[in-house]
Amino acid sequence: MSDDNKKKSKKKVSFGKILKIAIILIFIFTIIAGGVVAGAVISIIREVPDIDPSNINASLAQTSSIFDQNGNLIEKIQAPEFRTVVSIDKMPQHLLDAFISIEDERFIDHIGVDPYGIVAAVVDNIKSGSLRGASTITQQLARNLYLDPFEISLSRKIKEAYLAIQIERVLTKDQVLEAYLNRNSFGQNAYGVQEAARTYFSKDVDQLTIAESAIIAGIVKGPNIYQPYIRVKPDDFDPEKHYEVGRIDVLGEKYVLVFNETSVERQKLVLGKMLELGKITQAQYDEALRQDIKTSLKPEQKKNNDITSYFTDYVKSSVIESLVEKLNYSKEQAEDLLFTGGLSIYATIDVDMQQQLESVYENFTEVLVGNTSNIKGPVLVDWKLNKAANVLDEKGNLLFYKKENLLTEDYYLIIEAGSYQLSDGDLIIKNDKLNPYPKHIDVEDYYSIDERKNLVTHTVGSIVIPEGEFSLSDDKSITISKVFLDKNKDFYKIENDNLLINSKYFYIAKDGIVQPQSATVVLDYRTGHIKAVVGGRDIEGQRILNRATDSARQPGSAIKPIAVYYPALDNGFTAASPIDDVPFYNSSGQLWPKNWYRGYRGINTLRKSLEQSINVNSVKILESISVETSLSYLEKMGIVNSENPDKDNIVTREENPATNDENLSALGLGGMTKGLSPLEVTAAYGTIANGGIYVEPIAFTKIIDKNGNELLNNIPKENIVTSPQTAYIMSDILRTSVTNGLAGRAKIPNMATAGKTGTTNEQADIWFVGYTPYYVSGVWIGNDSPKITMSKGSSTAAQLWQHINAKVHENLESKTSFDKPDGIVSASVCTQSGMLAGELCTRDPRGVIKSEIFAAGTQPKEHCDMHVELQIDTTTGKIANEYCPNDTVETKVFIQRTPPYDPTANNDLVPGDYEYQAPTAICNEHDETTVVPLDPFEDWFNQWFNNNNNNDNNNWYNNGNGNNNGNGNNNGNNNDNEEAVPVVPLF
Ligand SMILES: [Zn+2]
Ligand SMILES: [Zn+2]
Repeated sequence: MSDDNKKKSKKKVSFGKILKIAIILIFIFTIIAGGVVAGAVISIIREVPDIDPSNINASLAQTSSIFDQNGNLIEKIQAPEFRTVVSIDKMPQHLLDAFISIEDERFIDHIGVDPYGIVAAVVDNIKSGSLRGASTITQQLARNLYLDPFEISLSRKIKEAYLAIQIERVLTKDQVLEAYLNRNSFGQNAYGVQEAARTYFSKDVDQLTIAESAIIAGIVKGPNIYQPYIRVKPDDFDPEKHYEVGRIDVLGEKYVLVFNETSVERQKLVLGKMLELGKITQAQYDEALRQDIKTSLKPEQKKNNDITSYFTDYVKSSVIESLVEKLNYSKEQAEDLLFTGGLSIYATIDVDMQQQLESVYENFTEVLVGNTSNIKGPVLVDWKLNKAANVLDEKGNLLFYKKENLLTEDYYLIIEAGSYQLSDGDLIIKNDKLNPYPKHIDVEDYYSIDERKNLVTHTVGSIVIPEGEFSLSDDKSITISKVFLDKNKDFYKIENDNLLINSKYFYIAKDGIVQPQSATVVLDYRTGHIKAVVGGRDIEGQRILNRATDSARQPGSAIKPIAVYYPALDNGFTAASPIDDVPFYNSSGQLWPKNWYRGYRGINTLRKSLEQSINVNSVKILESISVETSLSYLEKMGIVNSENPDKDNIVTREENPATNDENLSALGLGGMTKGLSPLEVTAAYGTIANGGIYVEPIAFTKIIDKNGNELLNNIPKENIVTSPQTAYIMSDILRTSVTNGLAGRAKIPNMATAGKTGTTNEQADIWFVGYTPYYVSGVWIGNDSPKITMSKGSSTAAQLWQHINAKVHENLESKTSFDKPDGIVSASVCTQSGMLAGELCTRDPRGVIKSEIFAAGTQPKEHCDMHVELQIDTTTGKIANEYCPNDTVETKVFIQRTPPYDPTANNDLVPGDYEYQAPTAICNEHDETTVVPLDPFEDWFNQWFNNNNNNDNNNWYNNGNGNNNGNGNNNGNNNDNEEAVPVVPLF
């Protein structure tokens, strides 16, 4: 546009000006209405709003977009209006010309209203008898900005004209045109020319051809009529009739986009007008006509359809939360900004990884159980059915009806004969399928089995009957009144004596939800970046439940590393600390907890205790470090939020004194009140992987506002939880939990792998959370209703984790060990005492000496004092006394528990290593009365022999002065062990 159109300064409105405008308006008005007094006009004008030229574009809703780290668009956030404001400099001249030519050919010269156009319109109006007329571009803008666009009245026409003149006084023609072209609707939820160009041609506005510009200019007159393509439902698509230009997905609904011929008719009109006005040459006109619009249309995908919405949905909720927490927006303001603020959000997603993860989930059952054709019953589900094949919980309560027991084929609710009666036009029902509440009647849910043998659970909603039109009696029978039934004749019908209730009156989730469900999240633990997330399987659509971020489930043993073992290593325990798996009693004196295997295994190192997921030992360690200590570590790892207790899943004593997580069961075994989300658990494990530094997981790194300024730089919170050495040792224990422990199936080829399984009661939840030198990730599998359990244990979760991570790491350089910090030493230790191994330890037949790593300074400095050597009478298993016959006495190495384990105090339960415990009883089979009398010489000889053949093996008890000197029950190699104590009282 020309230079003389620079922005005019806002002039003071002089009386003269108003008069001039009034005169013009009176003129217009007089022509249109045929002589109405000026006072009426002025009163109408007084109603119009003030014009503030500075915010003409500020109020425009603009589309926010989510990009990946490389700047690739993942999603334009769905809002009623898709709009990206661009400056007029970006718009090609032929686009401006196209609009001016078709909408307002005298735009450059008029003052906002076009008297010539009005005269022409009036002539038209008189001919047609209607009140329609050509509005200038400025008038259209005025209407769009300040008036109800759907109101058609004389007074609106007057206001529009007045406003148009005012706008022209404060804005340049360029500014008017720019505002107009950024504001108008172009169909398909596209607003403004930039979004129109993107929507129809997948182009930026400056890339449009003349033909395409003319198409877009043609839409404005009537977007519904002139949009270049229209949406049809796939069922309504007819290839004979329709020309398909693409397909889109709008809020989970799929549409076929078909070419709209009318748009090209309008385009020809636009091009003709451009030619007529000399805006394009004949050659340009001819070329434009030659472009085939049908094949040029390229509908823009507003989101990356190769991935589900789990990630972007989480980004959106995180953005809102961050705007509230970090920039003090109200929730409403934050939502408004997200949906209409034109934000550019940079997500942490790795789209390739997200796709890999989702492709594993597409083959979920194949990955986990292979061919399902031989499987009886639903895949992976362990259920309990009654005779009628309805699903029951452990206590025998009905959970889900079999579909056929609840509904007919055409979804009528079946109320069996005998459970209803009709009385004076009222309907009385007493049936377990209906649970009456004061304001509604809830209908039980049902299940089905899909063609892939998955259990599918279906929610059924409530029957809502207006108050006063149904009543409940004490025996839970429901009376639905004649009043209601008369109004709703189709409420029920009777077939074969059964009452059938029309499903029009309640909601049925016919698609249902496949079970078991599952969730996985992958994090880069160094940055906290969430790289991929799946919050469910076989569920389509947007804003669906994200089980990775929003569901709290019982973590089971997966909590042990973070709530027990890692804090313990930072509080005096080492990987070699011995913990005794023997009967333990809870505060009520009951034997608790149970191990996952029968009985007890006796003394195991801390490392082995975790590798074998020994429940008793976890509880004992936790008791030793205290629940409070555990919670303080969980707080540093993002699981406890004491500032904002509502925001975490932990239930503290303060929040609920009766039922909370401040106990050995919740933190030691993962049987929590609410549970934890996979994201929380995974991020906490990331601390260990990351050398002791917790990094808060984030889904986006920054937000840029619509003006290109940084609105938020999302730096994740970090906490130093332990030293790198403590983290490394914990990591190494989690590594051997995979190589030697229960999680062998998680091992990734050529990649160091560390992690821990988790299983809850009856396998309602199975977990594996683990990491490599690259990523940490957590997998959860379980039924949405934890009352239905799984047929497989946690190794199945490890298997899924392995499958996912093998793909994720496919093209990464092999790293077979974790980075070891300085200050790690190793020592050869006795696994029974956790101390330096000694000679006696080597003689323990179980092979109890292991090399273990320690943070420098925490390695044991003293030798084992737990292994002892005793002379046993093999006929009794007791300590030999001086009368036991030599040929039944043997020297053996034992462990000495302090105090000794006593089966009689523990219901005769014995730990697996009980046979290695030093006996405390002395043989009572042999005494002076059992000694065969010898003749005096033999007696003398024996005495002499014993005194002169003293050796450590057969007369240790003769050294009996209570002051052990290494010559008796303590092996000579341990002479430097001053703390060695005698095993048994000496006689
Ligand atoms: Zn030892
Ligand atoms: Zn004996």
